[in-house]
Parts: sequence; structure tokens; C-alpha cells
Amino acid sequence: MRSLVVYCFFYASLTFGVWTALLLAYFHHSHVSSQHKQAQEPSSVLSPGRKGSQQVLDITEPMLDPRERWLDRDRPKRRSILPPMRNTNFNFSNPEHLDELSKYGFNAIVSRRLGGLREVPDTRDKTCYHKVYPVQVLTASVIICFHNEEFNALLRTVSSVLYLTPPYFLQEIILVDDKSEFADLQGKLEYHMEVLQRNIKLVRNKQREGLIRSRMIGAQHATGDVLVFLDSHCEVNQVWLEPLMAVIAENHHAVVCPSIDVIDAMTLEYRASPPARGAFDWGLRFRWDTVFSYEMDGPDGPNPIRSPAMAGGIFAIYKQYFYEIGQYDKGMELWGGENVEISLRIWLCGGQLLVIPCSRVGHVSKQHLETDPAIRKAMLRNSLRVAHVWLDEYKDNFFLQNPAWRRVPHGDLSERLALRRRLRCRPFRWYLDTLFPDLEAFMDGERDEREPSP
Ligand code: UDP
Ligand code: MN
Repeated sequence: MRSLVVYCFFYASLTFGVWTALLLAYFHHSHVSSQHKQAQEPSSVLSPGRKGSQQVLDITEPMLDPRERWLDRDRPKRRSILPPMRNTNFNFSNPEHLDELSKYGFNAIVSRRLGGLREVPDTRDKTCYHKVYPVQVLTASVIICFHNEEFNALLRTVSSVLYLTPPYFLQEIILVDDKSEFADLQGKLEYHMEVLQRNIKLVRNKQREGLIRSRMIGAQHATGDVLVFLDSHCEVNQVWLEPLMAVIAENHHAVVCPSIDVIDAMTLEYRASPPARGAFDWGLRFRWDTVFSYEMDGPDGPNPIRSPAMAGGIFAIYKQYFYEIGQYDKGMELWGGENVEISLRIWLCGGQLLVIPCSRVGHVSKQHLETDPAIRKAMLRNSLRVAHVWLDEYKDNFFLQNPAWRRVPHGDLSERLALRRRLRCRPFRWYLDTLFPDLEAFMDGERDEREPSP
């Protein structure tokens, strides 16, 4: 009987020992693999390891030196979590809400709730995480022009640049106020920029110049080597500037655009967009064109994409090159057409225009601009200037869109035509044959609604 008790005790202890050992081995393994997984995931600047989240950060508290915050990228500074994005608080039967929508072009209720800074999801392709960019000496001046922008959207543009740009790159941020009338863009904006305690220059236009001349005014104040233009309702993503600067450092004649993510105009949700190239039709209207993955996949991640045109507001260019190729056409008014003009000039006069898929910047696609009669008039005038200077014999295709455009005045073009001769630019035929053969197929665009007369 005694030996039976000893026997049972022996086997019970053995079973207990084996189970304990197995459990210990299991817990050890899961601890090690979670550490390993964390090391593989990209670290988020504001909240490491949390992807897909949208966080609001309070920037009204006393600001630390953003340089420290940037270096401090692995320590999260969480404040509060944004309520679900589905709740836009927007009421389409409320006239005040509708007024604001047309005033700002997007839902300002959510924008105010988001405040001056939030975290956005890292939308880069995984292969971008491991890219190493050479340390180099170029500095960047970030130029942001605005006219009657929603205050918090502008603040988020500036703050996201400050948080996510390595300080050694960032020479300064230049804000060009194109004669805004909104009260909060006056003293309150100045106060907030001072609180940030960084090199932020605020230039106020005495009269409204339009975004094209405003960008040139911004460039005049730039002291960095590279000009980086952003719209006033952008949020840059992680490691956004390094890939752009790396390409420009290698080739001063490369003009580079990030891949542009969508910030939804109603929910302000930040969503990844597939990399795309810019294009346009014979009405010189910009459009996106799909890029298939086989076109850009390289052994070390996505390659730069040759783009016939840029979307407009978001690109980087070596400053000296910006001046060499003739900046912008200062005869253009307000808005529109300048993106197609500078794209044609870059390609036809010896440069390259590239979309860099590993660089990502979010942009609110506003909804209201093209309904403004002044903007429509400016768009037509600007497009006419592009057609007359750059399209050669193909400008007939442009006028086929609307024959009445032939009678619309476009101002003096002699300076731009002289620039084209001086730079010894190629004929438009080259652009069609080499870079953008698909344009030939766009012959029958829908009828263009831009005003036919001034
Ligand atoms: N803008 C400006 N002056 C103007 C029109 C626009 O400074 O007369 C600014 C505007 O506030 C924005 C940028 O230029 O920051 C680009 O304009 P928008 O975002 O309306 O153009 P889109 O994104 O639709 O091309
Ligand atoms: Mn914009």
C-alpha cells in the first residue's frame, strides 16, 4: 500500500513538473516572438507600433523643442483618441454647416476636432521601411501658400512638417498668405507660429497674387538648397522628405513629387492611394493615370515613376534649377494650368519629373474651387498660355475642345516664348512620342465647361 502511495506521488510530481516546464517554455517563446515582431514593425514617430490609428495630439500645451520630439521618436506622446471617423458631425440640412463647407471646401467641424496635430497611418509600402538614404548636406525650405484656409488644417500642415522632418534638412518653413480675409489667419496665426519656436517665416501679400505668383514670392524668401512646395491642407507622412532629397542630391535636374494620399473632405480620414503618375487630356485638364506594379517594382522596393505631369501643389525642386528653368509663368492668374506648364517645361527642357512612391503626403481634396467664376476664368487664361507656348502644331487639338477659346485673350507671351528658345527646349512632338504617347488617344474629351469668353 505504501509503495502504491509513493508510486502515485512520484508520477503526480513528474506530470506536474512536465506541465510546468511546458508552460514556461510557451511563455518564453511568445515573449521573444512579440519582441521580434515589434522590431520588424515600423516605428511610428508619435506612437510606435500602432498602425492605422488616427490620434489627436494637443499642441496647445507648452511646446518642447520639436527637435527633441523628433529625436524622441520612439517615445509616444499620446493624448486622446479621435472618435470614430464615421461620425462627421455634419448635417446637410443645416445651412451653417453648408456655408462652412463652401467656405473651406471641406468639413471644418472634424478639422477643428482634430486640432493642430494628429497621427496618421504609415501608408508606405513595407519595402520602403528598410531603405537607407544617404546622409547629405542639402537643406530644404518648405513653402506653403494659403488663401482663406481653415486654421487647423494649416496648423496641421506646419506641425506635421515640424514633427516628421529631420531637423538637419529643414532650413525653414515659409508661409505665404495670399491676402486671406479670415480673422483667425491674422494675429492668432502669428501667435501660434511663435509658440512653435522654429524658423517659420510668414510673408503677407499686399494684394491677392494667386497661387502661382505666391509660390514665386515664397521662393524669393528661401535660403535652403531645395524648395519643397506644399498646399495648406496637407499632412506629411513618415520619412517623407528623405526619399525626395536623396533623388535631388543625385540629380539636380530631377523634380520630385511624393505619392499623394487622400484626406477625405468630409471625414478627414487619411487613406493610402496607390502610386499614380500625372497626366492630362487635350483640354489640359489634369488627371491621374494608373501605374502597374510591374512598372515600378525593383529589387530594393518601388522605383521612381516617370510622370508626364505633376498634380500641382506638392513637389520638391533644387532651388537653382527652379530659377534656371524659369520658375513659373508670372502672367498666369490665381490658380490652374501652372502644373501642366511646369511639367512640360521640365521634360522638354532637359529635366525629369518623377513620383517617388516611398515618400507620402496626404492632401485634402477640396470640392469647391472650379465652381468659382474667377477661378474658371483664370484656368482658361492659364491653359491658353500653356497651349500657345508649348503645344506647337498640336494646339489645334486643344482648340477642338472649344473653338470659342481662340478668341479669348491670354496676355503677352513673348517672355515665355523667349525662355523656351533660350533653354533650347525640344518640340512637343518629342514629349508625345517619348513620354506620353497615350495623349494621342484622348482626342474626344467631354465638352469643356470653362468660360469661352473673358
Ligand atoms: N492658393 C493661394 N492663392 C490663390 C488660390 C490658392 O495661395 O489664389 C493656395 C491654397 O490656399 C492652397 C494652394 O494654393 O494652399 C493650392 O490651392 P488648392 O488647394 O485650392 O488647389 P488644389 O489642391 O485643388 O490644386
Ligand atoms: Mn489643395
